[in-house]
Amino acid sequence: MIDDRCSVCAAHEPSPCLVAWESPRWILRHHPGPAPLCGWFLLCSRRHVASVADLNPVEEREFARILGACMRALRDTRRVPRVYVVMFGEGAPHLHAHLIPRDASCEATRAWAVADFYRAVERRERAPAAPDAVDAIIASMRARLAGELDCLTHA
Ligand SMILES: [Zn+2]
Repeated sequence: MIDDRCSVCAAHEPSPCLVAWESPRWILRHHPGPAPLCGWFLLCSRRHVASVADLNPVEEREFARILGACMRALRDTRRVPRVYVVMFGEGAPHLHAHLIPRDASCEATRAWAVADFYRAVERRERAPAAPDAVDAIIASMRARLAGELDCLTHA
C-alpha cells in the first residue's frame, strides 16, 4: 500500500498544514514551499499506484468526482479562468495530479510556459508564492471542499 522509497507516499503524513481535503483513499495538499504559485495543489492517491490507468473501478469513479470538485473549488477560490491538470508520474511513480491555477494576470504561467515558471522558482530565479497567501487559499479550499466532498470524506 505504501512504498517507503516513494516521495509521494512520504509526503502524505508530515505536512498536515498543507492538506486541504483528505479521505481514506485521497489527499489534496498544497505544493510545499517554495510553492511555485499560490493555489498549486497536488491531488494524490493514498495507495501507491502509478497512474489513473492503474486505479480500481471505485478509485477511478472517485478520482473523476474529486478532480472535478477540486478544479471547481480552485477556479472559484483563486478566481482564475481555468485550472490546469498535469500528471507525468516521472519524479515519483505515484499518482499525483498537479492542479495549477491559470493566473490571467501572469503571462509567464500560460500553458506550457508554466513549466519554465516552475523551474525558475525551483532555481530561486523567481519568487515563490507568499506563505500567508498559501495558508489563506488552503483554508478557503478546506471550507469549500468539506461541504462538496463530504460524502467521500469517510468513504
Ligand atoms: Zn508512493
